[in-house]
Formats: sequence, structure tokens, C-alpha cells
Amino acid sequence: MTYSEICKRLEAVGIEDPSHEAAILLCHFCPVPREELPFRRNEDFSSPELASAVKKREARYPLQYIIGEWSFCDESYRVGEGCLIPRSETELLVMRACELLPRGARFLDLCTGSGCIAVSVLKRRPDCTAVGVDVSAMALRYASENARRNGVTDRVTFTEADILDPTVPEKLFSDGGFAAILSNPPYIKCSAASELEPELSFEPALALFGGEDGLVFYRAAVSGFLPYVMKGGFALFEIGYDLGEDMRKLCAENGYECKVEKDLAGLDRLVYVKL
Ligand code: GLN
Repeated sequence: MTYSEICKRLEAVGIEDPSHEAAILLCHFCPVPREELPFRRNEDFSSPELASAVKKREARYPLQYIIGEWSFCDESYRVGEGCLIPRSETELLVMRACELLPRGARFLDLCTGSGCIAVSVLKRRPDCTAVGVDVSAMALRYASENARRNGVTDRVTFTEADILDPTVPEKLFSDGGFAAILSNPPYIKCSAASELEPELSFEPALALFGGEDGLVFYRAAVSGFLPYVMKGGFALFEIGYDLGEDMRKLCAENGYECKVEKDLAGLDRLVYVKL
């Protein structure tokens, strides 16, 4: 199988950037330096692993799960079925959190998934510590491995808990206070399920959908968790581009003022609540 052939096969199934993805697959499974690919377009690199990987990708199985790792904030994360693939949009939350966290802060990462938010923040802020919470034991196995990979194990603990369970906030906060809550919870509206890219059907539904209005997890976080955050602290949420107004309302209903911030594409992306 050649680089040209892989590009064509991926293009034929509607993959947006076939040559980029073909290069990632080829370089992952065969010992060829990426910069040489343009000159070796028609060289045969056949291997059973590569053949099976291309076949999976043709079926729109996520590239990130095929190679088993993905880059987020310049760090490498292990990913696989059972945890959400870290998205580049979420890097904005990490950058803002690093600016906002006070010295020596302990923060809570709700719906931590692969652990990418907690781990990337801790990597940039060696003075901070964190607790990551997720309902999925499988996701937490990835989170622990990602903390190890990125050298922050001694400053993070991961806890399996359902943030929709109203008894959970008190239990979590009984071990000590938190200066901030960071969270990129599942926020896709269930009604949007049929319009999604085929790749998303391989990611855990539990990590994608936030109920009919996309707000289920924000509601639990705002009403159940924010009251426990230290005075002078903050919460920072990633939101779907269409949730800015709803979040303003939700915060106001609970007695909080919030600021909705846009991403580089000009879309509502972050909600900052000062406490
Ligand atoms: N916090 C993780 C991330 O940003 C997982 C989010 C989720 O499961 N919805 O990738």
C-alpha cells in the first residue's frame, strides 16, 4: 500500500484532510520520516497493521483511537474507546485556567475523561494540585495513565463519582476546599445526535450528550458544586457555541453573574463565574 493510495482511499470516504491523516497513519505503522513522504508517494509500505488501520479509518473509526494517542496542549495523551478524545477547542480553557488560578490553588476538574484538562494545567502550574472526577472507571484509567505520562501523578487524584448525584458535592468537598472548578462536561443536545460526524458514534455517548437542552451537567455543577467553592474562587466551563445565552440564564437563576468568552473562531466557548 502506498501513501498515494491511502490518501485516495481516505478521500473517497469523505475524510476532510486525507493527506494529513494518511501521513499520520503511515508514519505510525511504518518506519518512515514524515518529511520524506512527498518523495516516496508511490513506494509500497504494506504491513498487516497498516492495512487494518486504513480499513478502520475508512469505516470512520477515529484516527486517535487507531493510533492510541493524541496531542493536547503540546502534551501526549493516551486515548481509546471509553474516553473522549481531547479537542483543540479545550486548550483555551487550559490557557485561561492557568492565568486565573491563584498560587498554590487546589482545583476540581469535573467530568475529567482522559484527564487532559487537569493534567495540562498541572503541567503548566507546578504550584497547583487537583482532583479529577468522572463517572466512568474506564475513562479514569486513561486519566491516571495520562497523569503518569506527563509527570504530574503526585499532584492529582482521580475519583469515580456521578456529578448528577446530589450527595456527591458534599463528599468531595469534605476532604478540603477547592479554589476553582474547571469543567468541559458533555454538552451536545440529544436532538443533535443524528447530525453528528460518524466518528462521534465511536466515542462514549456518556461523554458527549448533555440531555435535551445540553445543560444537564452545567445545571448540576452550578447548583450543586459552586456553593462549595472558596470565596474569591471561580468556575470555568467550556460550553457549546450555542449555549452562551442559556448559561447566562442558568447562572443568574442561581444567583451568579457570569462572563461568556469567545474562542478564536468568534464562537461562545467559555463561561467564567467569579465566586
Ligand atoms: N474533560 C475531558 C475533555 O475535555 C472529558 C470531557 C467529557 O467527557 N465530556 O476532553
